[in-house]
Amino acid sequence: MEKIAVIGAGTMGNGIAHVFAQSGYKVILIDRDPNALTKAIQTIEKNLDRQLSKGKIDEQTKASALANIQQATDLNGAKQADLVIEAATENMEIKQQIFKQLDAVCPPTTILATNTSSISITKLASVTSRADKIIGMHFMNPVPVMKLVEIINGYSTSKEVTKTIEELSKKIGKVPAMANDYPGFIANRILMPMINEAIYSLFEGVAGVEEIDTVMKLGMAHPMGPLQLADFIGLDVCLSILEVLYNGFGNPKYAPCPLLVNMVMAGKLGVKSGEGFYQWQHGTKELKVSPSFAKKDFLETV
Ligand code: NAD
Repeated sequence: MEKIAVIGAGTMGNGIAHVFAQSGYKVILIDRDPNALTKAIQTIEKNLDRQLSKGKIDEQTKASALANIQQATDLNGAKQADLVIEAATENMEIKQQIFKQLDAVCPPTTILATNTSSISITKLASVTSRADKIIGMHFMNPVPVMKLVEIINGYSTSKEVTKTIEELSKKIGKVPAMANDYPGFIANRILMPMINEAIYSLFEGVAGVEEIDTVMKLGMAHPMGPLQLADFIGLDVCLSILEVLYNGFGNPKYAPCPLLVNMVMAGKLGVKSGEGFYQWQHGTKELKVSPSFAKKDFLETV
């Protein structure tokens, strides 16, 4: 395996391209938006500089990583790739369209992976003529820092393909965890109900934002509380993953908390919109609870 194509140059795509390029693979980063490509290369350079300043890599590694990355705005750019990792917008229609096109342009031997957080691998495989070569490769954000890659086998993924992707993940310094293709896989099946329950605890007036996050940080040794984490992930993203779990299992225990639904409708999406459970207008360093959840007012209204 030498050539890797990454589709989508957003938050995840640039990190995936970074990690493969730094490990010596030739990467073609493809996005339909040329501005996303420009921004991605700037982000990769900035992140390589950070690794350099911490002494984790040398100048030579930085230069060769950048030299290993090419860019394109058309999926035809993937036609030489041994492996394609799709990291485009989390939307079934967009991803199915991309998989159909990749199936047409790539050689039959090319493995097509997706970084989806919640969409069925088996459903994506169904629009291709190579269901045995479709697999989930779910990296965590930020990709250059986080060690885990969740590898998801679709219904028809072959054992050889799984083995190849498992070994490749180790070669780029990641720790793979294998899962089968059911809603939420492992990571989000466990994480999202926890976040939802934290939101329910707030909604039902059990405790305020700070108390809930403090209990999980200091009591359970989590690096950040579930409400802060939800703000980082994006409340819209949390809601859409919960809907996948709810619809996929038909079990009311996954029903998204009405407070989460309301916050998304109100555009309070967390860090990306400047406000969620916390206020983020001035960056992510200082934790300041959103005025909507100032304990006295909020707990008195529920
Ligand atoms: P993003 O919005 O930052 O980036 C998506 C990119 O895809 C955009 O630059 C967009 O222009 C591009 N794109 C959309 N349609 C395209 C097409 N047809 N062809 C080429 N490019 C196209 O999204 P993201 O946060 O990087 O998420 C990407 C994927 O990774 C999603 O499936 C998401 O569920 C998954 N994921 C995200 C995170 C996270 O923390 N953000 C973590 C794990 C997995």
